[in-house]
Amino acid sequence: MKLQARPLDIPYEFTFTISRNSHSTTTTVIVELTHSENGQTFVGMGEAVPSRFYGEDAESVLAFYDRLNREQVLADLTPFDIQKLQARFEALDGNMAAKSAIDMAFYDLQGKILNRPVWQLWGLDPAKAPKSSYTIGIADLDTVKHKTEVALSRGYDVLKVKLGSPNDVELFETIRRMAPHPEITMRVDANAAWDVDDAIEICQLLHENHVEFVEEPLKLTSSPDDYAKLKENSPLPLMADESCHTLKDIPWCAQAFHAINLKHTKTGGLTEALRMVHAARAHNLTIMLGGFGETSLSITAFAQLSPLVDYCDLDGALLMAEDAYEGITFTGSRFTLPNRPGLGVIPRAKVGA
Ligand SMILES: [Mg+2]
Repeated sequence: MKLQARPLDIPYEFTFTISRNSHSTTTTVIVELTHSENGQTFVGMGEAVPSRFYGEDAESVLAFYDRLNREQVLADLTPFDIQKLQARFEALDGNMAAKSAIDMAFYDLQGKILNRPVWQLWGLDPAKAPKSSYTIGIADLDTVKHKTEVALSRGYDVLKVKLGSPNDVELFETIRRMAPHPEITMRVDANAAWDVDDAIEICQLLHENHVEFVEEPLKLTSSPDDYAKLKENSPLPLMADESCHTLKDIPWCAQAFHAINLKHTKTGGLTEALRMVHAARAHNLTIMLGGFGETSLSITAFAQLSPLVDYCDLDGALLMAEDAYEGITFTGSRFTLPNRPGLGVIPRAKVGA
C-alpha cells in the first residue's frame, strides 16, 4: 500500500487555554493509504494529531512517514494485517500520534473493502454512544461568560471546564451559576495543576456543586502517597489523562484513579485503545474518549469505540473555526455515528466554493 501525507492548519474558534499553555491554531497531518485488490482501488484516511506535550509536532510526524516510505514498512501489508503493523510499529520508538493515523486508516480501508462501518465490523451498537462534553477553556471572566453563553445557546448540556489558574473558584462558580445542576452536567479538568491539599479542598467544592468527576487533579511531580491521599479524601471520582497513555498504565491508574481518558494521540491508534477499554473494565475503571483540537476525521475514527465507553469528550472539531471533514453529527451534546463504510468520513465542501 502507498502512504501520502500533508499538514493541515486549523484555527481555533476561541483561543484555547489550559493550565500549562495557550493556542489559537493547531496543525494536524492528514494521511491517505492507497490499496488495490481484485482490480479495485481503495483510499483509507487518517489524521495524526501531534501534541508537543507528548514530544511530537507536524514536522516529526511527516519525518516518521518519510521513514516508513524509505524503509518500505507498509509496502507489503494489506489493511487486514493489523498484527503485523503493530509488530513493526513496536520496533519503532514513540511517534504515537503518527502511528495512530496509520492504524485508523487501516480500519477505514477494512470497512471500505467490506462495505461496512467500522463500528459494525466490531459488532457495536451505535445507540450506546454516550453524550459528548463541550470544553470551556481558561480565560478572563468576561470571555468565560461569553463562551458559556455560546455553548448553552448551541444546546450543549454537558460542559467540561478547564481549571488550574489562580482564579479557579471564581471561574467555576460563574459557569455553574450560568449552567445549573441538574439541567447541565459539569466536569472539570485541572490538567495536573494542583498540590494534594489544594486538590482535596477544591474537589470538596466541586462535589458540593454536583460536578461529575475531575480529570488529572495533581501535579505530575506528585508522590504515590499524594495520589493515595487524594483518592482516600476526594468525594469526586478522579480521572487519569496525562497519567494514562497505553495498556501498561492501566494497573497503576486503577490504584490512583477511578477512571481513564483515552486519546488516540496517546494510545497510538484504535487497536491499542480497544485493548485498553477491556483492560480498564477488568480493573473496574470507567472510561472516557477524549482528544485534542482536530477535525471530524480523527474524531469520528475514535468515536467508533464510543458504544464501549461511559463518557465522551469528542468536541475537538467543535472547538475549531472550521472543519475540513464530515463525520459524526451533533444534536446538542448527543452525536450520531455515520452509517457509511469504513470510518464514514468524507471531505466537507469548502465554504463559499
Ligand atoms: Mg484532560
